[in-house]
Amino acid sequence: MSLVKVQNFINGEFVESAKYLDSFDPSTGEVWAKIPDSDQMDVDNAVMAARNAFLSWSSTPVQERSRILLKVADILESRLDEFAELESHDQGKPVWLAKTMDIPRAVFNFRFFATCALHDLNRSNQMQALDAFNYTIKMPVGVAGLISPWNLPLYLLTFKVAPALICGNTVVAKPSEMTSVTAWKLGEVCNAAGLPPGVLNFVFGTGPSAGEAIVKHPDVPIVSFTGGTVTAVKLRIAAAPFSKKMSLELGGKNPAIIFNDADFEKCVATTVRSSFTNQGEICLCTSRIYVQSGIYQKFLERFVQEAKKLVVGDPKSPDSFMGALISKEHLAKVRGYVDIARQEGATILCGDEPLNLPERNKQGYFMRPTVISEVKDSSRLITEEIFGPVVVVVPFDTMAEVIERANSVKYGLAATVWSSDVSTLHTVSQKLHAGTVWANCWMVRDLNMPFGGMKESGTGRESAKDSIEFFTEEKTICVKLS
Ligand code: NAD
Repeated sequence: MSLVKVQNFINGEFVESAKYLDSFDPSTGEVWAKIPDSDQMDVDNAVMAARNAFLSWSSTPVQERSRILLKVADILESRLDEFAELESHDQGKPVWLAKTMDIPRAVFNFRFFATCALHDLNRSNQMQALDAFNYTIKMPVGVAGLISPWNLPLYLLTFKVAPALICGNTVVAKPSEMTSVTAWKLGEVCNAAGLPPGVLNFVFGTGPSAGEAIVKHPDVPIVSFTGGTVTAVKLRIAAAPFSKKMSLELGGKNPAIIFNDADFEKCVATTVRSSFTNQGEICLCTSRIYVQSGIYQKFLERFVQEAKKLVVGDPKSPDSFMGALISKEHLAKVRGYVDIARQEGATILCGDEPLNLPERNKQGYFMRPTVISEVKDSSRLITEEIFGPVVVVVPFDTMAEVIERANSVKYGLAATVWSSDVSTLHTVSQKLHAGTVWANCWMVRDLNMPFGGMKESGTGRESAKDSIEFFTEEKTICVKLS
């Protein structure tokens, strides 16, 4: 494949940039794309295009906006294989995963939000004593700045783009500099679907340059961000003088809590998936596994046995359960946690075995599923987000003890709980600091339900109701009747 040259998408046109960055194929370590290294001027141009498009788009009836977004979904779906291959090339994940998870979910994001806004109702109230009548309307906020990460590139980007657009906002979006290609291609899809120029703009480049320029732009009153907790602090500080509306979806350190009476087979199989899908690079992946003492040894042996069976290899191969991690630097960071485990005297049960990779993948950023036990609660392996295929398995005795230990970290994104006793599931779920608790399952997502994090895992929620609330300003109008 020849080098891909990504261009900014501004006012419905693909435009050249003054400078470009290298984007690497994680499975080979080679440069495969050039990405615009956008700066303030590119962002200014994109915001201007979005501002100019706002008046017309925000007054376009929601039924028409819905029709166009449904067309985006249809065209994207008709190009599913192409998008899945590009996503895998750019991100390192297996093609089969991009085909079955990332791109179908991006299609669904457009369908879901395009139709849910058609059923959204306003409130009204009569004040009999004062002979007045109140009603509310929801207005779009303006130009929305959307910033997304590299782990589920098109999936997470469209989870913001679709609700922002259906609510009548126009958008300037910046995907991660490591995974920009499918967003660039989405520009073609939007043009083909008849989305008016300037309604959706993509500015590619780094966080400190393009990202910060969006966050600090005075004509961008609303920012939705998904990414790291440390980056979010910078965003909060940059946006503070402007009193912007902000939604922040951040990191996690998600526990799995497994009781003696759990359905053992189902729990092992799902926890292997929840730990290592997408190379463990999903904010919702399990990274701390607490197993009740009665089944701890049995679980550990079986879990390690299953983890060892997972094939790590060429993302193009349908046999590869895991592909490559996103970058050389990220691989070094994740491996660094295994070094910490070694220094602390923990037991590394699997993950160290050499990889058997095809010649073309020898310089890729691959790592085996790694399972570690005998780890203290104070260890950085328990308290810090690793965001890779490394999990820690530790025993517990009582419900009260495990709830306290699960809640002892600064994150609160998601958790899984495993038991055949419904009251155990309810009690534990209610007490956990987590925006989402999956009881006897993982990643069963209903976009109607609020999604987001507690504590340092985020601010705000995304869902049918929550995303519409976030991407609109609700206004009360009071009419005096006499
Ligand atoms: P990151 O914070 O490094 O980058 C996220 C995005 O922010 C990128 O587009 C980046 O270019 C941009 N950015 C970086 N610095 C910026 C700045 N100063 N101003 C504006 N934008 C800036 O995160 P990442 O490494 O791309 O993604 C991994 C992190 O994302 C993990 O912590 C993961 O848990 C989190 N995540 C959270 C969710 C969720 O829904 N809660 C989903 C996926 C990933």
